[in-house]
Amino acid sequence: MECGATLVGVGDVSAALPAEIAHLNRAISIAVDRSLNARTVALLSRLQRETVKRLKEAGWRYLSIPPDSDRRKGKFISNLYELFSHKTAATCSGLGWVGKNGLVINREYGPKLSWATVLTDAPLEADPPIVISECGDCDFCVRHCPSGAIKGGKWSVAQPFNEYVSYERCRSLKGERKIFEEKPNCGLCITICPYARKNRQKNEETKLTKRL
Ligand code: SF4
Ligand code: SF4
Repeated sequence: MECGATLVGVGDVSAALPAEIAHLNRAISIAVDRSLNARTVALLSRLQRETVKRLKEAGWRYLSIPPDSDRRKGKFISNLYELFSHKTAATCSGLGWVGKNGLVINREYGPKLSWATVLTDAPLEADPPIVISECGDCDFCVRHCPSGAIKGGKWSVAQPFNEYVSYERCRSLKGERKIFEEKPNCGLCITICPYARKNRQKNEETKLTKRL
C-alpha cells in the first residue's frame, strides 16, 4: 500500500491451484484504481516487482500473474492467465466478488479496478474470502447492456466458472453505441454499476470538502 496500491489482500488459494503450482498456495492480490488510466498498468507492474523483490529477499518462492491489461499485447507471459485468474485471487482475498457483468466488484470501488497477482509459498495470514455475490437484486448492467451480452447469473465460489457474459456479443458492438472507440467494448457495465458510482460520489464529496 505504501508504494501506491489502491487495495491489497492475501488469499488462501489452495483449492484453486493446478498441480504444477500447488505449492504456491497464497495469492497476494493487488488492485489499482482504473481512473489512473495509462499509468495503471505501469503502476501494477511496479507493485508486482516490489512484492517479488521482498519475497525473494525473504527466501520465498513466487510467480507473478501479469495485469489483465497486458493481455492484448500477445506476450509470452499472457500464457500465465491460463494457470490462474486474478478473479480467484481477489475473491479469495476478500477484495470482491464476480459481478453479473463478469468483473470483480469491490464494495468501495465497484468494477473500476485493475488487478495483478503474485502467488507465493510464504506462509502469509489469509484474509477472510468472499464466497457469494453481493449484487443482490441489482440488475442495472443486465438491463442496460446494449448488446444483451450479460446473462444475469449470480456468482458463488461453488459455481466459479459459469459464463456470466457472452464476450462474443459484447465485442460485436459497433457504431454509436460504443462509448470508447479505441476499446473493444463499450464499458457501460462498468460505469453504470452502483458500487462504482458510490465511490465516484465519495471522491467528489472529498474534493468538495477539501475546497471548502
Ligand atoms: S462492455 Fe458494454 S456491451 Fe460489453 S457487456 Fe458491458 S455493457 Fe455489455
Ligand atoms: S450493476 Fe448491479 S448487477 Fe451489475 S455488477 Fe454492478 S451491482 Fe452487480
